[in-house]
Formats: sequence, structure tokens, C-alpha cells
Amino acid sequence: MSVSNRDSKAISEALESIRSSIPSNVNLVAVSKYVDADKVEWAYNCGQRDFGENRVEELQRKSLACDAKGLSSIIWHFIGNIQSNKLAKLLRVPSLGFIHSIDSEMRLKDLYKRIDNFSGDQLNFFLQVNTGGEQEKSGFLSYDELASAVRFHLQEYQGKRLNFFGLMTMGKLRGDDFERDARACFQALKGYRSRLIEDFSLEGLSLSMGMSRDYRIAIEEGSDFIRVGNAIFNSELES
Ligand SMILES: *Cc1c(COP(=O)(O)O)cnc(C)c1O
Repeated sequence: MSVSNRDSKAISEALESIRSSIPSNVNLVAVSKYVDADKVEWAYNCGQRDFGENRVEELQRKSLACDAKGLSSIIWHFIGNIQSNKLAKLLRVPSLGFIHSIDSEMRLKDLYKRIDNFSGDQLNFFLQVNTGGEQEKSGFLSYDELASAVRFHLQEYQGKRLNFFGLMTMGKLRGDDFERDARACFQALKGYRSRLIEDFSLEGLSLSMGMSRDYRIAIEEGSDFIRVGNAIFNSELES
């Protein structure tokens, strides 16, 4: 499907409209994967600081371009599938603050192995859960897998700069009732969080859930981070 990018005024209006409709404790990650660094700059000039990308090379390119523009308080969120051979490159991206898409215990172990490439103070990560059970999506498929990864993290993390920030999911793509399906996915993620809190005495785990078409539902279900692209940057494919 083709999308047409918005101009600066439309981006600023879209940001305003989303911000005014979400609670102040919800973090808006502007997913800039469809647009170039100039449009990131427009959003930055409207006060947006958190931006999301799903490809390592593209993130690397855009973060350098934004650096050159002097957008010094930008925070990058990586939200895409991670290939192990690109992890070191990802960790070297300036101003990388969050990875939302650690999708297996193996990936978490890779992250630990390569963390020396990261030059910041602290890197926050979410474990991605495949709550819809769709095959083309990545993520943990059971509580046991998730709990095992959390156990690994809790044994390893002392002295490291990796911070387990919470859980991430995407609403189911296919299905005859996307609202009902999305809500079920978000509730499932909340359920996983409750079990982790109980089993590991963890505190303050955040939920990263909700995209353009379902962020309102995600917020009703207690989302802390919404990842919104099209509704900010593109005039078609609106929610
Ligand atoms: C692209 C993407 C988003 C944003 O999707 P929109 O529909 O454009 O809001 C959010 N999360 C992930 C993981 C994505 O890949």
C-alpha cells in the first residue's frame, strides 16, 4: 500500500492531537521508519523526543543525520526484528535508549555478550511476547520461556548496564474482529506481567503496546509506551 508523507504542519497537528488524547504518563514513541530525517526534525521541533525504527541500517543512518542536525536530546527506540549479526552495529548507534524487541532467551544472551559495544550509561530492553500466536511474528510464546529469560537476566545483570524495562507485544494482524483481538493480546500481556511480578518480586515493569490503529485500546488496557507511525507521519492508512 502506498502512503503519502505529511508536511510539517500536518505532523505537528497529528502530534498535538495524539498527545492531547492520551494520559500524561503514557510515553509516545513516534515511529519514523516511513520517513526521512527531515521529518524527524519537524517532529523534534514540536517537542517529540522518542523515535522508533525497525531496521538497523536505517536507524544508524537516521541517527547520524539527526546528530548532524544537532537534535541532541533525541532517544532512539529499536522496535524491529534483530539479527544476531547486526546486534553489535545496533548497540553502537548513538542515543539508543530502548530495545523493544528482544524476542527469545537466545537473543537476550546475545545482547549480554555484545553489550560492550554500547557506549551509553544504560540500555533499557523489553521482552517481546507473541500474544496473538501468529507464526510470522516473533516473540516469546509461553510464560515458561519468558520466565526462563527473566531468570537468566536476574542472574546476569549485576554490574551490567542492561535494564529489564518491561514487556512488548503487537495486536493480532488477522482476524475478523481486530478490536476484540487487540484487546485480548493486550490483556494477555498484562497477565504475563502480573505473573512475572509475582514470581520474581519485580517492580515497575512497563508495557509497550499499541500502534496507530489500536493505541486507544492499548491505553485502556494500561499501556505505558505506544508506538505510533502512520497516524503521525502519513496521511493515508489512518487509524
Ligand atoms: C511499524 C511499527 C509500529 C508503528 O505502526 P503504525 O501502524 O505505523 O503506527 C509499531 N510497532 C512496531 C513493532 C512496528 O514495526
